[in-house]
Amino acid sequence: MQLLDTLDAALRELDAQHLRRHRRTAESPCAPHVRVDGRNMLAFCSNDYLGLAAHPAVIAALAEGAARYGAGSGASHLISGHSRAHAQLEERLAAMLAPHLEQARALYFCTGYMANLAVLGTLAGKDAEIYSESLNHASLIDGARLSRARVQVYPHADMDALAKMLAASQAKTRLIVSDGVFSMDGDIAPLRELLALAEHHGAWLVIDDAHGFGVLGEHGHGVLEHAGLRSPHLVMIGTLGKAAGVAGAFVAAHATVIDWLVNRARPYIFSTAAAPAQAHALLASMDLIEGSEGSRRRAHLRALTQQLQAALQLRHWHYRATRTAIQPIVLGENAQALRAAAELQRHALWVPAIRPPTVPPGTARLRVTLSAAHTADDVDRLAAALNQLDSEAGHAS
Ligand SMILES: *Cc1c(COP(=O)(O)O)cnc(C)c1O
Repeated sequence: MQLLDTLDAALRELDAQHLRRHRRTAESPCAPHVRVDGRNMLAFCSNDYLGLAAHPAVIAALAEGAARYGAGSGASHLISGHSRAHAQLEERLAAMLAPHLEQARALYFCTGYMANLAVLGTLAGKDAEIYSESLNHASLIDGARLSRARVQVYPHADMDALAKMLAASQAKTRLIVSDGVFSMDGDIAPLRELLALAEHHGAWLVIDDAHGFGVLGEHGHGVLEHAGLRSPHLVMIGTLGKAAGVAGAFVAAHATVIDWLVNRARPYIFSTAAAPAQAHALLASMDLIEGSEGSRRRAHLRALTQQLQAALQLRHWHYRATRTAIQPIVLGENAQALRAAAELQRHALWVPAIRPPTVPPGTARLRVTLSAAHTADDVDRLAAALNQLDSEAGHAS
């Protein structure tokens, strides 16, 4: 049983560093007011930024999709699992992103994690170079490793460092890879500068817009719409389990890139297609995102964000206001962040403490996420509790 002893010791070590992870069990749909582990809580932790996960129209479409297409796809896309619902969703997504790409097409994946492994593992080979932003999501880091390309990490938003790396490179295939909205910080990547560098150096720009799609841009098309970008050098990944409220992800790019992924991307080829009902439900999500209800929900989300920014008066903790639904409060040490999350829980507020390796050591934080499903009263309650805990933190130190 030596292996189990080793694991036990490693888990105890995680405990000692306040890094042990535990799950909570929700007993109600994803919404601001949830029942979790037998308690009613007000939650600020999901990525359901528009409140679509429990939207009646999306739930109805999921049921309708199951009635029409069954519960499962039965096979991978290249065998027999590709359904009319998947095809319609891909056409819809391609049309949404068409203003930003050349010959836009889209490919639906089971998860964003798989989409990122697929894009980097397929577009970058052994002879390629990947320029990876230091705060990129784990799935991009893993995709870069899987590609076996040479990987260079540039410091957060440091365009001078990136320009120097590109200028020094001889590689024929080069990919600049960045989150569009940084998942644990909520800030937006310098997209215009990134695209200018990509075009100047003949590189691809791969943007993972997990937290911008649905939220940013007049029509909710994400960071590319927000920044007004268009280029044949762009590859965009959007996730569909966050603002879109269901599950899965898509890659949008030039038709040739998509064809290459269909033929070569192992995470796409060797995996069972997501349930067609999910794609059918996502068509309803896209109607909401692009329609007047989506505009109203985005406006409400922005108003809640401004309300929180105006209400928070933190003197000890470091609040980083952003233009997105992600509002981080950086405390520093793991134990501090855990203690703050536990205190909030006593107020029946559910805010996750985010620790390394998800964020760099010494920057443990509360990651507050707002949703259009929150009310102004919800945000008032959160702000009051945070202000109180912050002032108590001052007395303690
Ligand atoms: C959530 C997330 C992913 C993974 O998407 P899933 O569909 O949840 O697998 C990828 N990139 C970023 C930036 C994310 O936040």
